[in-house]
Amino acid sequence: MGYLGAQFRMIAADHSLARNGRRASASISLTNVEKVYGGPSGDLHAIAPLSIELAAGESVSIVGPSGCGKSTLMRLIAGLDAPTRGEIRVGHQVVARPVPDIGIVFQRDLLLDWRKVLGNVLLPAEIKGLAGLEPRARELLQEFDVAAFADSYPWQLSGGMRQRVAIARALLTRPALLFLDEPFSALDALTRDQMNVLLQKVQTSEGVTTLLITHSIMEAIFCADRVLVMSGRPGTIMDDIRVPFERPRRLAVRETAEFTAIGRRIREHFEKAGVLVG
Ligand code: ADP
Repeated sequence: MGYLGAQFRMIAADHSLARNGRRASASISLTNVEKVYGGPSGDLHAIAPLSIELAAGESVSIVGPSGCGKSTLMRLIAGLDAPTRGEIRVGHQVVARPVPDIGIVFQRDLLLDWRKVLGNVLLPAEIKGLAGLEPRARELLQEFDVAAFADSYPWQLSGGMRQRVAIARALLTRPALLFLDEPFSALDALTRDQMNVLLQKVQTSEGVTTLLITHSIMEAIFCADRVLVMSGRPGTIMDDIRVPFERPRRLAVRETAEFTAIGRRIREHFEKAGVLVG
């Protein structure tokens, strides 16, 4: 529950959210950011100096081997941890404390089982003391195809439906940033494909700056405007690939030669690094 607590603290800390209407998304800028964790058995160099720019409204995937620092990077941008060196900005603000205006989705949906689906989606509004967001919550449930379950409890829903509710909750207050850390890894392959279609549709309609961490090369390409490929630890950016496909995207785009070529380019990085053998 640590992550959930952190997210709720961030929501509670922000009193400046637009009450209505579309929220302006924010740019993200990292300059020579480095992270070294100190520990009893010595320092662990998690992230090598790296610099990244994300435009407002851009959707970026990060792929990389386990332990290369992807989640660390996300925590640093969210202001949940401080970089050892370098500077991070969200919009024009240097990140020095938890960034309030982020919706975060994890592999575990972290829904509260004693609250109905609608109550879960509305939770961020309750914490912030924002009234009048029920129509927005219902609209999101509709868009996510779970409106019929608004009065159900989370335990009555499938894993895919629960994750749809978690994303709706993250988007409720129209955050400037949407961070997703392996959100679909626990789902079966077909449900995961469906969630990919939904995610890129929602990114288009919400216009939110999105950072998606995934181990799936195909998911990384399908869902994003850009894929950042990370090296093994200490993590750095090995490649930054623009994904040219128009939105909304259909799953069939994955079978095109252009898509396959991007997948091959990413795979070859991992093969060269010895992360993938085959
Ligand atoms: P990824 O998300 O790519 O799997 P992480 O960002 O979770 O990688 O972790 C990167 C490295 O930093 C790992 O070796 C992990 O053990 C280490 N690490 C992560 N968080 C901490 C922490 N709070 N203290 C010490 N080491 C950590």
